[in-house]
Amino acid sequence: MRGVVLEGPRDIQVIDREDPRIIDPTDAIIRITATCICGSDLWPYRGEDDSRHQVMGHEYVGVVTEIGAEVTTLKVGDPVVGSFVISDNTCEICQAGYQSKCVHAEFVAYTVGTQAEYARIPFADGTLVKTPGEPDPEIVPSLLAASDVLGTGWFAAVAAEVGPGKTVAVVGDGAVGLMGVLAAKELGAERIIVSSRHADRQALAREFGATDVLAERGDDFVAKVKELTNGFGAHSVIEAVGTAESFAQARKSVRPGGHVGFVGIAHDVQIPGDELFFDEIHLHGGPAPVRRFLPELIGLIWERKIDPGKVFDLTLPLEQAAEGYRAMDERRATKVLLTL
Ligand SMILES: [Zn+2]
Repeated sequence: MRGVVLEGPRDIQVIDREDPRIIDPTDAIIRITATCICGSDLWPYRGEDDSRHQVMGHEYVGVVTEIGAEVTTLKVGDPVVGSFVISDNTCEICQAGYQSKCVHAEFVAYTVGTQAEYARIPFADGTLVKTPGEPDPEIVPSLLAASDVLGTGWFAAVAAEVGPGKTVAVVGDGAVGLMGVLAAKELGAERIIVSSRHADRQALAREFGATDVLAERGDDFVAKVKELTNGFGAHSVIEAVGTAESFAQARKSVRPGGHVGFVGIAHDVQIPGDELFFDEIHLHGGPAPVRRFLPELIGLIWERKIDPGKVFDLTLPLEQAAEGYRAMDERRATKVLLTL
């Protein structure tokens, strides 16, 4: 099969990879019908994680082509969506809603690599969720978004305790930040403030429900959020970048007693203990347990209540993945869908 491999910094190649096969009886093999490039793929792409010969991709929509002997909830031909973390969905951690920390958790990004024609999905009964039927092509991008960016933005909003009447600040205008805006709107937020300097992303943020789009960053953003909230700060803040600067911006934008949901993969984020102590805020985040939200999100997409697929602004065939990475790296594209 064909698949994307990161050979070294900024060196994306589409090569012949070995066809996946059933190894454990709880595995399923899926034929991938759509996949995409994630903002988090840019960290290894830029050489930050020193990756070599790394299979890439962790977002996927597909069809089951083979199941192991112990798979009970799926059959060949089922259309499925999965999350970016393998989970059994039965252990105590999964049952509590933290499937991304399942006792059997594995990152699809580093083991499976779904920017490819086929994938072996371990713990298929737990990891994969069937769609109600064969999806119309028009909703495939939205289902693909549910696999990671929508599920992640949604978790960030839930972790930030977004709800009716609340003011939400969103730090980050990448795909996850934009999905955080959509989630905040769906969860009933009254005011949604987002920081963005890109005209196209500002427009999409407004379409997804942002009420205030600020060009300010850092302390200027914090000052503006306080100005808009009678000096208190936001009730809920979504952090969707992961740098020291963005994390500080998020932490300072929240009011005492408020909640920060952080989902940008942390790079060099440090929180001084004394500041943490005197801030008196809630911080909750990490790799999103997307699996917890998948059934609900698939339902909202199936009923055409949300259209997160709009976050894709470039579609390319898998064979042109290198151009997709370049486009995202150079911020010419927010999110790239790869067709098969
Ligand atoms: Zn589990």
